[in-house]
Amino acid sequence: MTATLAASDISLELVKTNPENFDYVTAYEEGIGPEFLAELRELLPKLKNVKMAHVNATAYGGGVAELLHRQIPLMNQLGKEVGFQSDWYILKVSNTAFYDVTKKMHNTLQGAPGELSAEEKDLYKKTQIENFSEGLLNDYDVVLIHDPQPAGLIELYSKDRKGKWAWRCHIDTTTTNANVWGFIGAFAKQYEAAIWTREQFVQDKADFKEVKIIPPSIDPLSPKNYDLSETQVDEVFHRYGIDRSRPVLCQISRFDPWKQPVEVVKIYQEMKKEFPELQLIYAGSMATDDPEGMFYWEQTLRAAGLDKDVTILNNFHGVGNIEINAFQRGADVMIQYSSKEGFGLTISEAMWKEQPIIGGRVGGIQDQIVDKDCGYLVSTNEEVKTAIRELLSNPEKRKEMGKKAKKRVQDNFLITKEVGNYMKLAIGLLGR
Ligand code: UDP
Repeated sequence: MTATLAASDISLELVKTNPENFDYVTAYEEGIGPEFLAELRELLPKLKNVKMAHVNATAYGGGVAELLHRQIPLMNQLGKEVGFQSDWYILKVSNTAFYDVTKKMHNTLQGAPGELSAEEKDLYKKTQIENFSEGLLNDYDVVLIHDPQPAGLIELYSKDRKGKWAWRCHIDTTTTNANVWGFIGAFAKQYEAAIWTREQFVQDKADFKEVKIIPPSIDPLSPKNYDLSETQVDEVFHRYGIDRSRPVLCQISRFDPWKQPVEVVKIYQEMKKEFPELQLIYAGSMATDDPEGMFYWEQTLRAAGLDKDVTILNNFHGVGNIEINAFQRGADVMIQYSSKEGFGLTISEAMWKEQPIIGGRVGGIQDQIVDKDCGYLVSTNEEVKTAIRELLSNPEKRKEMGKKAKKRVQDNFLITKEVGNYMKLAIGLLGR
């Protein structure tokens, strides 16, 4: 899927996303309504001949990559008539220990204790230098760098930067680790603008030239979210040996301590005493930049023991987008018991499928779920159990809350909204 641009083996890679044979604009017009696209078209005259680059760490795994695969082609097809063009690059990493460093950055920026050693900082800086390619990003009018992994690139381009650069932090930094933020923040403050998911995540506001808030979105037309028939949902459940005639509790997320996979298993085990027919699905892909995944995967399996009613899956079991889609549609109770979350894409995805999801009362989840209206916000295992009990005993209420959940996503968290925010960002940065 990717092609090396620069002559060296290292340096940024272009991610190819623009299949000319798929008409995204028409698909969205038909799929979610022409009014969503009309709003975006109104912005185009101000984006004439603008070139925009997005840079992040990985093309697969995690929410950012997932979205860019759709946003880039949508923006390009919309922008074609005025010459507004966006390209997406990922870092090339010669030493995989870099991923340990950036994973540590991710965890500490989310609040974990610890600091970066001199060697870790050196490896971080070395990877930035390896990805500096003379002139490449200087070709763009607007450069949007996602998350800490490529944040340090700015320093290398700063002398003769042509474009306006913005840094977007997708991480929940409410209680960030001051030490590691000191290191990353020093880069971030060199950008023209910093973008956060929520106001509460903004650090050192006074030190930034400009701060913007943009919530992430989901794509209703992607295989992860498009409509499936009951038969298709049945087929997926059947394939993994899950009995749809019995209640199913489900969490979809990486094997990561902040997603609390072991707690989810424990809650299931306690609820099974009340609902003996209950089953659990925990499905989580292993991202290529997530070395801790295997460790938490094992912990989760160990917690579940030999219970045949627990199904723990990862992408190696053939769990792809359609399977996730089917689990989110077919489960009786969706849960996302995160203890830290910038913004839970899995939350919006489940809500879009009319699921009143139970979400951790943390970070951006609090903007997504309206408590006891279209889902539940929970802080303790007892609160989770109460919510599961209510949803399992009350199918009518579940249905009614589910409809509100879908509407909330439609109004606030669809892909077209976020694309519009990027377009407005570019217009603002260029002072047009
Ligand atoms: N996801 C997936 N397969 C899995 C687990 C997760 O495709 O086995 C997707 C999930 O549907 C969502 C994204 O990965 O679109 C995770 O985004 P989120 O914001 O929920 O969490 P993150 O992993 O970015 O912390």
